[in-house]
Parts: sequence; C-alpha cells; structure tokens
Amino acid sequence: MADLETFRREARAWLEANCPPEMRTPMTSEEDTFWGGRHAKFSSEPQRIWFERMRDKGWTVPHWPKEYGGGGLDGEEAKILRQEMAELGARPPLTSFGISMLGPALLKYGTEAQKREHLPKITAGLIRWCQGYSEPNAGSDLASLQTRAESDGDDFIINGQKIWTSYANYADWIFCLVRTDPAAKKHDGISFILFDMASKGVSTKPILLISGRSPFCETFFDNVRVPKAHVVGQINRGWDVAKYLLQHERAMISGMGERGVGRPLGQIAADAIGSDGQGRLDDALLRGQIATFEVDEAALAAAAERMTDLAKAGQGHPAFSSAMKYYGTELNKRRYELLMSAGGIDALEWESTRSREGARPRAWLRTKANSIEGGTSEVMLGIVAKRILDLPGA
Ligand SMILES: Cc1cc2nc3c(=O)[nH]c(=O)nc-3n(C[C@H](O)[C@H](O)[C@H](O)COP(=O)(O)OP(=O)(O)OC[C@H]3O[C@@H](n4cnc5c(N)ncnc54)[C@H](O)[C@@H]3O)c2cc1C
Repeated sequence: MADLETFRREARAWLEANCPPEMRTPMTSEEDTFWGGRHAKFSSEPQRIWFERMRDKGWTVPHWPKEYGGGGLDGEEAKILRQEMAELGARPPLTSFGISMLGPALLKYGTEAQKREHLPKITAGLIRWCQGYSEPNAGSDLASLQTRAESDGDDFIINGQKIWTSYANYADWIFCLVRTDPAAKKHDGISFILFDMASKGVSTKPILLISGRSPFCETFFDNVRVPKAHVVGQINRGWDVAKYLLQHERAMISGMGERGVGRPLGQIAADAIGSDGQGRLDDALLRGQIATFEVDEAALAAAAERMTDLAKAGQGHPAFSSAMKYYGTELNKRRYELLMSAGGIDALEWESTRSREGARPRAWLRTKANSIEGGTSEVMLGIVAKRILDLPGA
C-alpha cells in the first residue's frame, strides 16, 4: 500500500509538471482527439507536447508491457494513474482502435513477432488502425460475412466488401475478418487478418452520417495479396479472436456513458433557462430529469469500477461488457437529449461561428449511432438474456 501511495504522489507530481494547461480542459470537438498514424496532424502545439511527453513516459498505454512500448503498470497502478488524470482533467494523449481493440487481441492471440511488430507502433502513435468486421449483409449476424481469402502459396488473395468501416479513409492498417473456408459452418472458416490499407486493391468510399460528418466508409478489396503470416490466431479460428476483441470494443464504447460534456448539465441549463429564487433550475421537469440522469450516471461509474476490479481478480464475465455497452450508450443518448433540452433554442443552431458550426446538435445526432456501433442495443440485450441471465427461450 505504501508503494501505491508513493506511486500516486509521483504520478500526480509528474502530471502536474507535464500536462499543459490547454490539455486539462474538456474535449469538445473532433480536433481535440489525437489519433496518431502516418499522416497524423496535431491540432495544437500543447496537443503535440502532451502526446510526446506521455509517449516518452510509456503512458499512452500505461498497462501494456514495457517491451511492447507500454508503461508496464500493474492493474492497481494503472487505476491510480486513471484517477489522477481524471482529477486533473487531463485528456487522453492518444486515442486509437489499436489501443482499445486490436492491442488486447494481439496480446492474447498474437505471435511474439506480431506483438513486437505492431504493439510499439500503436503506443508510439505511428500506425492508425481500422476495423473491417461489418459487411452489407453481415452486421448483427457478423458470422455471415462473405469477404473471401483464397490461398495462394504463402499468401491469401482477398476479395469482398466491408461497410461502416470507421475512419477507413484515414487508417494505415486494417484488422479484418475474412472467410478462409467457405465449406465450413459459418462460425468456423473465418480468419482474423492484418494488412496495410496502402496495399494494391484496397479502396474506400466515405458515407455521410445524419450529423453531416463522414466518419466512416465502404471499404473494397479487389485481389489484395496478404501474407498468411499476418493471420492472428489460427487460420479458420478467427471467430475466437473476433469475439475477444468485441468484448474490449464494447467495454471501450460503454465508457462514453461516463464521459461528461465538460460542465454539469444543470449549470448549462441554468445559463439558458434561468434559476428560481432558491438558485434551482427554473424548470421543474427538466430539473427532475437531470437529477435522475445524474444518479444513473453515478450507477454506471460504480458498475464500471466493479467490472474493472472483477476482471483484475480474474472473475470477470465475458458477456458483462455487453451489459455495460447497452447501459453506457443508452445513457449517453439520454445525456445529449438533455443537453439539447438544456440549451434552449440556441441548441438547434446548425451553421454559424457562434455555434462552432453546430457542434452541439451534430454531437447529439452522432449519439444516435452509439446504440448501433459495436453491436446494437437489441443484440446486447439478447446476449445479457442468454449468457448472463440464462433466461429460458433466450
Ligand atoms: C457510427 C458507426 C460506426 C461503425 N464502425 C464500424 C467499424 O469501424 N467497423 C465495422 O466493422 N463496423 C462498424 N459499424 C457497424 C456496426 O457494427 C453495425 O452497424 C452493427 O453491428 C449492426 O449491424 P447492421 O447495421 O448490419 O444492422 P442489422 O444487423 O441489419 O440490424 C438491423 C436491426 O435489426 C435488429 N436486430 C438484428 N438482429 C437482431 C437480433 N438477433 N435480435 C434483436 N434485434 C436484432 C438490430 O438491433 C437493428 O435494429 C459501425 C456502425 C456505426 C453506426
């Protein structure tokens, strides 16, 4: 315990000394996120300084082993670091699907050569990854995927189409599910493979969301040649890797339920609507909704803490991330509904400098996708019914 207290003191002092003041404010726009990658651009000098300091300290991914570019922290130390960063309001220095999705799968299923090749490039922000799972006829029923990988000596030749591939047009590499044995049952015969998006035969076509932004793409593979050595896990056993990765993806997405909008909703509402003589929000209905929301938000934070502690103790349930994904994303959608109600008429402003080009309504519309991406709410509830509650008929 004394060691942990020392670690906390030292971490706090280091963060205080090294986190630029501009990186201690809430993230309010896409530019506030640094994704890394071959074509990475920093949106500000403080963002660059913060990323580089954290990278050099090994704290872009504090809990990964040092030999793969991580910080080598154990579970308790990583938790303390998270708490201290939250206390300071420090932004994550690097966000990437490499950290939240591929990395955990590589640590469990990758060969030593694959770990040494890919993990340090993730922690150093050198390579940006995208996820090639969904296809036009394989979303919730992912195992129906049809993208083919045919054997050709030491390589596979990949043909097919993915859809909803987030940031595929900015990504350097893709982790992709392909069918390597069309004769096998649908969950068998799938492989999990990695390749460079700059490979000959890969192309992307952006798709617009209702927010007017285009964060994702259709992705096409036309005779893309990929070495068999790039398969993670065993050939035809990719479903195991895919499911494991989904657990991490869902846990990561559930985190959006804990992320606020920078200021308490009650304060935002009071600015737009006003307060009564006792300093309370001058709209009893909205006041009640915000209070209920804040209680649910606290409940999610407590459940997340419990999930982390159980996982650390080796007692985590593999399907619990689905419960968290469901709750966290539904909560985030409620948060933005309230934010719109709290903003009064100004919240609808769509195109103007004052509204930062409609940052609020666009963020609100973006949240509508939260309960679809990474698996829909209906599918999450199905998993909870079957695998956690063991309900009859599920
Ligand atoms: C913003 C965003 C980003 C995304 N990013 C990526 C990405 O980077 N990579 C990637 O591979 N995919 C990505 N996706 C795709 C996402 O994983 C799929 O949209 C999702 O799995 C649902 O699949 P679908 O869209 O094909 O819908 P469908 O599976 O066709 O579902 C349609 C409707 O039927 C319901 N339904 C389907 N099956 C069941 C069932 N068994 N029980 C009850 N209801 C059911 C669903 O809940 C839904 O309401 C992204 C999606 C979004 C919205």
